[in-house]
Amino acid sequence: MPELPEVETVMRGLTPVMLNNKVSKVKLYRKDLRVPFPKNMEGRLAKRSILSLTRRAKYILVNFEGGVVLAIHLGMSGKVTIISSGERYDIQKHDHLVMTLEDGSRIIYNDPRRFGMIFMFDESELETHAAFKHLGPEPLGNKFSAPYLMRALKNKKTSIKQALLDQRVVVGVGNIYACEALYQAKINPEKQASTIKGGKVEELVSVIRDVLARAIKAGGSTLKDYRHADGELGYFQHNFTVYDRKGLACKDCNCNIEKTGGIQRIVQGGRSTFYCPRQQK
Ligand SMILES: [Zn+2]
Repeated sequence: MPELPEVETVMRGLTPVMLNNKVSKVKLYRKDLRVPFPKNMEGRLAKRSILSLTRRAKYILVNFEGGVVLAIHLGMSGKVTIISSGERYDIQKHDHLVMTLEDGSRIIYNDPRRFGMIFMFDESELETHAAFKHLGPEPLGNKFSAPYLMRALKNKKTSIKQALLDQRVVVGVGNIYACEALYQAKINPEKQASTIKGGKVEELVSVIRDVLARAIKAGGSTLKDYRHADGELGYFQHNFTVYDRKGLACKDCNCNIEKTGGIQRIVQGGRSTFYCPRQQK
C-alpha cells in the first residue's frame, strides 16, 4: 500500500509533466474505482491550466484554474505511469484511466484492486468535503507540534501505536512509519497514548517528521530514474529498522537474538506491529 512518502513522490513526479499544462482528453475504461469517476471529467477539466500539484494526507491534489481540484488517491494498489508525447504505449490490464495532456504526454492510472479514488471538488471545500473534514494535521506541517500532539493524546485510551494511525490525530503516518517512529523514539507501542508526555512527545514529533522526510528523500532519489522504469511512479525500496524484521537484531541492540528473539511482531487493531522490547519500554 502506498504510504505518505510514496504519495508525495508520485505527486512530485507528476508535477513537471502536469504543471502549466492542460487536459485535452480523458479516456475511461470503466465507470468507477472505489467511487464513480466524476461525470464529464474531460469537459470540466479541459481548457483549464494546471496551476499546482499539492498533497493532503494521501490525496494528490491537481489544482486547476478556476478553483477546480482533481483528487487522486492510490488506495491499496494504485500506480501512475507517465508516457511522453510520441512514446508508444499499449493499454495494460487494470489501466482504468488515460489522461492526455495538451503537449501529448499521457498519464495512466492503473489499479488492480480498485481501492483507489479519483474525484473532483472545488478548492473552497478542502476543509469541509467528506473526504477531508475529519483529517488531522499534516505530519510535516507546522500545526503538528509537541503541544498539539500532547493535547491530542491527552484523553486517548488506545495504545500510542493506534493513536498514531488515527487520522484525526495526524494524517498519513501509516503502519510502517508508526512502527519506525516508535522505535526511534524508544516508546513501547502498547503504551497507553495518554501516558506519553513532555519530552517524549517532543521526541515523537521530531522522529515522525524525520522518518517521513527521510523516506521522501529516498523516494526522490528513485524518481530521477523513473523514466527508465517505464515511467511508473510511486513504489520504492525502503530500508526499515524494525518493520517486517521479526526475529532479526535491531540496529541498537547487541543482544543474542537466539535468546531474546530479536525484533518482535504483535498485532494491534488488526495490524502488525514490529518493535524491540529491549529498546522500547
Ligand atoms: Zn533491539
